[in-house]
Amino acid sequence: MSVTGNPLQPTLLELSRPGRGAGTRLPAAPAGALARLPAAALRATPPALPELNEATVVRHYVNLSHLNWSVDTGFYPLGSCTMKYNPKVNEWAARLPGFAALHPLVPDEAAQGTLELLWRLEQDLAEISGMDAVTLQPAAGAQGELTGILMVRAYHRARGDLARTDVLVPDSAHGTNPATASMAGFRTVNIPSAPDGGVDLEAFRAALGPATAAVMITNPSTLGLFEPRVVELLELVHAAGALAYMDGANLNAMLGHFRPGAAGFDVMHFNVHKTFSTPHGGGGPGAGPVGVRNHLVPFLPEPLVLREPDGAFRLERTGERPASIGRMRSFAGNVGILVRAYAYIRAHGADGLREVSEDAVLAANYLKHRLAGAYDVPFGRPCMHEFVASAATLRAGTGVRTLDVAKRLIDKGYHPPTIYFPLTVEEAMLIEPTETESLETLDAFADAMLEIAREAHDDPDLVKGAPHEAPVRRLDEATAARQPDLRWRPAAQVD
Ligand SMILES: *Cc1c(COP(=O)(O)O)cnc(C)c1O
Repeated sequence: MSVTGNPLQPTLLELSRPGRGAGTRLPAAPAGALARLPAAALRATPPALPELNEATVVRHYVNLSHLNWSVDTGFYPLGSCTMKYNPKVNEWAARLPGFAALHPLVPDEAAQGTLELLWRLEQDLAEISGMDAVTLQPAAGAQGELTGILMVRAYHRARGDLARTDVLVPDSAHGTNPATASMAGFRTVNIPSAPDGGVDLEAFRAALGPATAAVMITNPSTLGLFEPRVVELLELVHAAGALAYMDGANLNAMLGHFRPGAAGFDVMHFNVHKTFSTPHGGGGPGAGPVGVRNHLVPFLPEPLVLREPDGAFRLERTGERPASIGRMRSFAGNVGILVRAYAYIRAHGADGLREVSEDAVLAANYLKHRLAGAYDVPFGRPCMHEFVASAATLRAGTGVRTLDVAKRLIDKGYHPPTIYFPLTVEEAMLIEPTETESLETLDAFADAMLEIAREAHDDPDLVKGAPHEAPVRRLDEATAARQPDLRWRPAAQVD
């Protein structure tokens, strides 16, 4: 099967024509520029670079970019990722030369504006989360988790409590949680979910003990559910002398409604690229600030941004907080992402942020209700900002699986939702509409999903053969992952 259909772009080498690049004039090299290079290092023949005029190059890249999906081109219902609207004013702010062109080693006196923004963002995140202090350093959520769990380790060690080897992780947690626990040298203990999707309290109680260092709870969980027994869980954790970590990647669901620090969590991370804008879909840079309660402040990575009594801002000096776990990342973190987060938070204010969450939860529940019937929607209670649907019943009746539904959505002009995650639900789809999609967009997506369910009954092969209209047809994903064929050959030779 050809994977280079018409809408795919030929490579620049295929577009190259001898002499075509002659319009691009480079300055001549200075006389004798190569004279001091050893003869063996000099090319005998010029490199076979493509020769192209500017318009061809521009169109090549613009056309390629149109093969990409983004929130700017359409609805992006990927669950567990909050592919949200990115106000363009944030891009303007992040690109201001005072931020974008600041040298990372500039003295504090010459970086007062940026330091003030970072300090204010630390304060805002602390207020939003009910935590006492925040580090902005980690470069993503996963690194935030590692930062948090390293602080947990340092906390127990500082108290001479060396017997705590375990981190409890419910099976509805994100996969990065157990990965973090083992990277920090802990043993991961998996806790099953109860039928309502919350943590099974009895199993939790049984696993908890003097060997428990921490519990990592994703809340709302990857099932899109608020943890119903969070109060009991936190009490049990603290009674056992362990600490409670909250994976805050799903904070978009509860801004202004639930403050993890005030509820009793000891440490959490934010995914500012999921909650406070930033284009996230390209897998580009993010930021994973970590908030802690007072008893963990001594262990925060250095440097924090400090404000002096005279109002000046400065970065903490190395060794100033001797118990710090040290640096997690160079300089002050991914500052451009932090500027976007600050712009987003200030533009919304407290009421606006609360409304973000209310609208996100409303949109998810609306969509869930529209799909119920055609798809399974387990757990029987309201979801937060995302929900799990399943094609298990559809599959039993028609043979059409979640993967087929996802591929058929592409024919209908939609990016598929997250599929086969969470792992605990058979034929899962994790769907997250976010707060900014209109009723018309939600309805059109629901209509497409319902139409696919009808097609599955009337003409299952149509759905199983999808996509029919995409630049590439269905790929053999197992072979693509195990034996990737990444060598370019001219289109004529691909069969
Ligand atoms: C996205 C996500 C993470 C990991 O965050 P990154 O910023 O991608 O490293 C962790 N936990 C949950 C629940 C997530 O959704």
